[in-house]
Amino acid sequence: MPIYDYKCRTCGHEFELIVLRTTVVACPSCQSAELEQLLSSFAVSTESIRQSNLKAARQKFSSSKNYKDQKVAEAEEIRDHAPHLVKPNPK
Ligand SMILES: [Zn+2]
Repeated sequence: MPIYDYKCRTCGHEFELIVLRTTVVACPSCQSAELEQLLSSFAVSTESIRQSNLKAARQKFSSSKNYKDQKVAEAEEIRDHAPHLVKPNPK
């Protein structure tokens, strides 16, 4: 679905709109059709999609059975590569 960012030339309101063939593009704030299409929208949309994918991936990862093993492996890697970050064993 094509989603575009627009800025209203009449009131300055910025909004996203899913534009279908039947969509009448108008400002939701003042109903003006004097709109400027923003070119930066693609980057913004991509970033928000990327972050939601990352969040979903994290949730999937933390609910997986391997989560504890991953944590152990992570701790071992820190010990191997950054021993100064690991507190010495009190014993
Ligand atoms: Zn407007």
